[in-house]
Amino acid sequence: MINQKQIALNKLNDRIRSCINCRLSLTKQNIICGEGTLNARLMLIALSPGENEDRECKMFIGPSGKILDKLLHIAVISRDSIYMTNLIKCKLPKNRRPKQDEIEACSHFLDEEIAILSAKIIVPLGYYAARYIFKKYASDPPPARADYRALYGRLILLNEKKVFPLPHPASLLYNPSYKAETAIKYHKLQILSHNCKWYSMCPMKCYFEHGRLEKKWIELYCKGDWEDCVRYQKEEKGAYHPDWMLPDGSIDESLRYR
Ligand code: SF4
Repeated sequence: MINQKQIALNKLNDRIRSCINCRLSLTKQNIICGEGTLNARLMLIALSPGENEDRECKMFIGPSGKILDKLLHIAVISRDSIYMTNLIKCKLPKNRRPKQDEIEACSHFLDEEIAILSAKIIVPLGYYAARYIFKKYASDPPPARADYRALYGRLILLNEKKVFPLPHPASLLYNPSYKAETAIKYHKLQILSHNCKWYSMCPMKCYFEHGRLEKKWIELYCKGDWEDCVRYQKEEKGAYHPDWMLPDGSIDESLRYR
């Protein structure tokens, strides 16, 4: 049975396929819509289709798609379990940088896609997608390109939206020496694809449900990067930690007393 999400996405994709809002519609062969599972927890957002994608009308099938597949394989994530889309739906000629008016003409489609999918975690790939998502959700988006690079591989909460920026797989075509570092960052997708196994019995859940703990701790750790949680690490080693220790390892004495 086709559900409401699928119906809304089909309608959006019909509009995307007939779009002639900017000059890129004159040079593309195809317009590429998002692909993947509608209930995906992770929504990956790249910049735009490349030549192969434009010709075959499929996402990530060129050289950067092959790298993405390797990175997903290392992270034990299948394409079927995620949703992938682009900030700009038509190919950029000769892979040039996008112009601001092209981003403005196209990005409302991405906004609608994000609203329809309502994925738990948005994963912008590379600078342009990350900059767009930060401008959309952050009150003070980083000003410089280098600032975004520093955010790759970190789970961030932007006004209730979880964002996990990653380097674009194509960056490894130009800098293969970053492969190991990039694979470690992509490995986190596996962590982010499910909640911490201790969550149902963790005191943090209890504190949160009783209104004694800020939601950010649950979103960033228990339902986010639980591998980074000091409580989780201690639990795995069977090491003592008080119930009122927070996921970052700090102690909140106010939780100790009812
Ligand atoms: S606080 Fe840590 S150990 Fe507890 S559920 Fe959250 S991530 Fe897991």
